[in-house]
Amino acid sequence: MIKNHPVLGESTLTEVQHPLLESIGDVSSVLTSLRTERLFLVLDETAYEASGAKDVLEPFLKQKAVERFTDFELNPKLEDVQRGIEVYRGSEPDFVIALGGGTAIDLAKLIGSLAVQPESARDIAIGNASIQFDGKPMLAIPTTAGTGSEATHFAVVYVEGKKYSVAHPSLLPDYAVVDPKLTESLPGRITAATGLDAFCQAIESIWAVAATDESILYATEAARLAFENLVSATNVPTTEARRAMCRASHLAGKAINITKTTAPHALSYALTSRYGVPHGMAVAVTLAPMFAFNASVTDKDCSDPRGALAVRDRIARILDILGTDNVDDACSSISNLLSRVGCPTLEEIDVQGDLMSIVDSVNVQRLANNPRRASREQLLEILQHTGP
Ligand SMILES: [Zn+2]
Repeated sequence: MIKNHPVLGESTLTEVQHPLLESIGDVSSVLTSLRTERLFLVLDETAYEASGAKDVLEPFLKQKAVERFTDFELNPKLEDVQRGIEVYRGSEPDFVIALGGGTAIDLAKLIGSLAVQPESARDIAIGNASIQFDGKPMLAIPTTAGTGSEATHFAVVYVEGKKYSVAHPSLLPDYAVVDPKLTESLPGRITAATGLDAFCQAIESIWAVAATDESILYATEAARLAFENLVSATNVPTTEARRAMCRASHLAGKAINITKTTAPHALSYALTSRYGVPHGMAVAVTLAPMFAFNASVTDKDCSDPRGALAVRDRIARILDILGTDNVDDACSSISNLLSRVGCPTLEEIDVQGDLMSIVDSVNVQRLANNPRRASREQLLEILQHTGP
């Protein structure tokens, strides 16, 4: 069994996950041992059925009082959280289960926590109030190999099209099942988009200002696994490739749980909310030009207090993962990976007339975690240099 190591690196992080469950078949025995009776489920219904989880869980769930929340769209929105909170409060559960991709898991984190706070969900989502009380224990069951949300203490929520991230140690799910079998029925496009998210999260975590020795270990293995297996998992999925992507996704989640993400994520949110580009692809389109940009960091524009040399050490680590010692070749490898899994270029997304407004919508906290400071003009230039 893979041990889910305690989260280190930030003194405020005290929550620790139980050992990772590697089979959906283990869920009933864990829930029985916890004596849970009233369950609140946040379910992506399509994934529940297609992943095979429904067949395994339903016989057990029939013996319990179960409330299901399934009425939500892709990418968590405040309205979905608010509707979920009403259902949650009506059911008084003693345990929360999330099943699906990052949306279902982030929603379950937010509903389970915000339902027990005195402040409104809206105020907490936009950062005007904070989480004070822990929610009920939660189990996350990812059915995509991507966001790693089951391993993080934060959750994304869109409020009027603007992206916010709610962070609190108690949002880290207490239990997680990472079972590659659940991803076997994933269509190629979802495998690609979610796998690209894992790959980008891992690469960004390596160069992040907040990187620690521990996060770099998780992120390095995640990036290597994703780089070597994503094309196969997308185009000719084998059991091994699926398994490797599940591990990559979970480790990338553990890495960003410590570091959070950087510039490619900061630039991605407008592409998702305005153009409907899947999150992982929206992030991936700026990864190669941002890699080239960060590789040229100097002490003058370095935002990592450890200095440019320390950042370039981590850039060298990424070059090693990509199997080269040359930044141009590394950028070509990244672009090649993107095109082989069907990720569109910015040109294909057709945002050329809107680049400045994408720069203006950038998430400043994520940008501050990028190892090289970037001006608006430099970000614009990076957006202009995405492409094959
Ligand atoms: Zn992401």
